Amino acid sequence: MNDLVAWLRSDIEHELALARAAGGAPWVGSTEHFEVQTVEGLTVVDGFEISDPRFRATIDHIVRHDPAATIDRCESDLAILSLHEHAHGCGGPADSRRWVSDDEDCPTVRLLAYGRRHHRPGWREEWKP
Ligand SMILES: [Zn+2]
Repeated sequence: MNDLVAWLRSDIEHELALARAAGGAPWVGSTEHFEVQTVEGLTVVDGFEISDPRFRATIDHIVRHDPAATIDRCESDLAILSLHEHAHGCGGPADSRRWVSDDEDCPTVRLLAYGRRHHRPGWREEWKP
């Protein structure tokens, strides 16, 4: 496993563990978009505690990234990563038949990782797609 794959796998697994620890279930926004609740009706976030005037959009954003959605996304990312972490044919539209060896950084893995570069220390600019 190369450094980029290890960094990316660690980040995804960390996010997955957080989502599972947070209950793994969907969250819902109240009809007025004033708060985020668990499906059991427990308050996760009270919109009035958010000082930003865009708090309703913030509430909707939090709901969109609830633990259930995060688990789904992380499991998909791990499945994609497993398809691209060892030697394989890969590439983009210009070179879709490019062979990627075990010690190279695959273009798909670089793209997956790039979206996570701000969330975990250790990102290297040399990994940029
Ligand atoms: Zn690949």
